[in-house]
Amino acid sequence: MSSARSIDPHHLNVAAFAQAEGTLEGEWSLASMPRLLRDALPLSADSPAQTVSWSARGSHKAVAGSEAELRLHLQAHTALQLECQRCLQPMTVMLDVRPSLRFVRGEARAEQLDEDSDEDVLALTPTLDLQPLIEDELILALPLVPRHANCPQPLPMSAGEGDLEDGFEAEHTFAALASLLRDGGQGGGKPS
Ligand SMILES: [Zn+2]
Repeated sequence: MSSARSIDPHHLNVAAFAQAEGTLEGEWSLASMPRLLRDALPLSADSPAQTVSWSARGSHKAVAGSEAELRLHLQAHTALQLECQRCLQPMTVMLDVRPSLRFVRGEARAEQLDEDSDEDVLALTPTLDLQPLIEDELILALPLVPRHANCPQPLPMSAGEGDLEDGFEAEHTFAALASLLRDGGQGGGKPS
C-alpha cells in the first residue's frame, strides 16, 4: 500500500482507500468550484472564505458470506455570500456537510441499493475525483431561497406582503360567501 502522501484525491482508488481505512484532507480554492459559485456573489478579498476545507476517511465492514461493505466518509466546510431574496443584500451562508457514501461493484447494483436504502450508494470506479463529489454535496446544502433570519435594513412595503394581504381578503370573501350559501341552504336565514 502506498503512503498517504501519495494518495491523489483527484484519482482516488476508493476500494483500496476503504480497505486500508485511509484518511486524506486538504483545501481547495472556491474559485476552482464554479458550479458551487453559480448563484453566489462574486469572490472578493472580503468574501467570508476563499477555500473549501475537506477531509475523507475510508472504512470497510466485513459481512459474513459476502463482500465487505466499503464506505467513504466525507466532510467539507466553507462559507459563501449569497443575495438575500427578501432585502437583496449580501448574506453569509455557512456550509458544513458530512456525507457518507457506500460503494459497490456494478452500476446496476449501486442503483438498486441506492433505491432500497437510506444510504447514498455509488458504483466503484477505478479512480474517483473527490472534488466534483464534494462540490455536489455543497451545492445540495445551499438554501433553496436564501434569506436573512432578520434582514439588516428596514424594508419598503414589498410586493410579497401585498400579495399576502390580497390572499387574506380573498379568504374573508370566501368565508362570507360560504356563510351566505350555508344560510341559504338552511332555508332563508331564519333568526335562531
Ligand atoms: Zn435580507
